[in-house]
Amino acid sequence: MNGSRIITKKTDADFEKMKIAGQCVAAMHQAVRDMASPGVTTADLDEAAREVLAERNCRSSFLGYGGPDNPFPGVLCTSPNSTIVHGIPGNYVLKDGDIISIDAGAIYEGWHGDAAFTMAIGNVSQDVQLLLDVTEKALWAGIEQAVAGKRLGDIGSAVEACAHPHGIGVVREYVGHGIGRQMHEAPSVPNYGKAGKGLRLKTGMALAIEPMFNAGTESSVVLDDSWTVVTADGSLSAHFEHTVLLTHEGSVVSTLPEPLLI
Ligand code: MG
Repeated sequence: MNGSRIITKKTDADFEKMKIAGQCVAAMHQAVRDMASPGVTTADLDEAAREVLAERNCRSSFLGYGGPDNPFPGVLCTSPNSTIVHGIPGNYVLKDGDIISIDAGAIYEGWHGDAAFTMAIGNVSQDVQLLLDVTEKALWAGIEQAVAGKRLGDIGSAVEACAHPHGIGVVREYVGHGIGRQMHEAPSVPNYGKAGKGLRLKTGMALAIEPMFNAGTESSVVLDDSWTVVTADGSLSAHFEHTVLLTHEGSVVSTLPEPLLI
């Protein structure tokens, strides 16, 4: 996905709007968590998220994304099991033992929030739960580094380090991103890198940090719908994401029920 190559600086007023968008994303997540269970379709989850957008006077960041040739048809990306990202909501029926990644984006007065999580449906094995736990831990390790004065490589390095002890594949073809008036802005935020290297982070930036970890290899394949990205080896994949605002008061995770100053 392409976005602007220019890093735009956000004001405090911009960040306030991004917090409202982020809270809408958190509410979309909660609606999905409340509903997701065996027998529910991914289209049902998308419908619940649409209701939250309407209630909160927000628009979807995802619906129509990609332009007229192949517009994304959902307000959620619903990515079960071996789907890494960009799964299209539809007639897939959740079943006991599945995992599913849910990615949601909302726009409030032109400003975006973007976040994802992966949940187990019913019972999953300890190995599967470990994949989810490690990926979520990696997100928070990355968030801890997302402060003014640090560098992009500090984020990627911290994320990647969480995967290595477990032999988990770190997806490299899809990465985090700057966010603001567009969902995808500069800079790219890889889930790998060298500590102390790369762009220096500054107040006024906003970043979407989003580790995508596979139980198998890092390689991925895009399906014929030109959206759905799956693991090349069929292994399970997990995805966690938050939007982080580098404000004058410090870094704030905006895509939670209440903005969190870290
Ligand atoms: Mg994102």
